[in-house]
Amino acid sequence: MIASGMTFTTTSPRSRTATVPGRTEAGPEESTAVSVAEHAPTQPTVVLSFDVEEHHRIEAAAALSCPSDQRATYAVRMEETTRRILDRLAAYRVRATFYIVGEIARTHPGLIRDIAAAGHEIGSHGWDHRRVHTFTPESFRRDLVQSREALEEVSGTPVVGYRAPTFSVTRQTAWAVDVLAECGLRYDSSIFPVRHDRYGVPDAPRTPFLVAGPSRSLLELPPTTWRLAGQNLPVAGGGYFRLFPPFCMDRGIAQQHRLSLPVAMLYFHPWEFDPGQPRLPLGRMSRWRTYVGITKSNRRLERLLQNYQGLFCRAIDIVNGLDSVRHELPRFQLGSHHD
Ligand SMILES: [Zn+2]
Repeated sequence: MIASGMTFTTTSPRSRTATVPGRTEAGPEESTAVSVAEHAPTQPTVVLSFDVEEHHRIEAAAALSCPSDQRATYAVRMEETTRRILDRLAAYRVRATFYIVGEIARTHPGLIRDIAAAGHEIGSHGWDHRRVHTFTPESFRRDLVQSREALEEVSGTPVVGYRAPTFSVTRQTAWAVDVLAECGLRYDSSIFPVRHDRYGVPDAPRTPFLVAGPSRSLLELPPTTWRLAGQNLPVAGGGYFRLFPPFCMDRGIAQQHRLSLPVAMLYFHPWEFDPGQPRLPLGRMSRWRTYVGITKSNRRLERLLQNYQGLFCRAIDIVNGLDSVRHELPRFQLGSHHD
């Protein structure tokens, strides 16, 4: 169910008016659009995205071998928590984007069907949550195709968006852009324009852009940052959502509003909304990063849903809206160029 009725009117670069769907509380047959324009006094469009994986798959636990009974527990809790999130989204009539680990289509097909049936977008989060760095271009292609096919088969909807586990599309894995484009994906949302020990491309644009790999390019929807004192702070979700006071995310969203394409991309994981889950046996630092602020997450999500009511849409709606102005988007070379 891709929203229709989006238009872009291009008059001049300074007065360009982009219309993207910004109201997801309307049903698909009565979708309403809000106008976003350069420096216009509107609020940005906000994409809520959820990376759906069982808790033991997180990068911090990559070196652990999790016993099968604990994996089973996390799988059950992942489904329960995702369903609670679906209920909250439904209460606010918000449609979101869910980037889902492909294997979950095999283990929880009913959950995938219900997410799609509620009008949310289904995207790929890889087959089994391996970082892009662990693949060759060929094995990455197999992983991507396998996850996409499994998700499409179960959901009955096309999968055109990708979010790499641990934002692992970086300069080292620029070839992944070529593979994503060659496989027919319409966009990626894996390049975090921040400095971080595990991921990030600090000089990447902070608004939607065309990312160029060695030979292909693709639309990129980067997670939101807050630029402060010459640095991009990662305020879009995850641990930062739990650690930083809520005004940091608000500032990041407000700052997007002043940029040429005011789209805020936020990201969360279902396990972050499950404060009662058994804790993984992580080292001290990792444990802190993983669980900090976890008891506040549900309250904070509720606050977001209230505060930005009427401004939410799915990533695919942004992508459809940008189709006709693709050539005007900033272009960013991620990897070296080969002709
Ligand atoms: Zn993930």
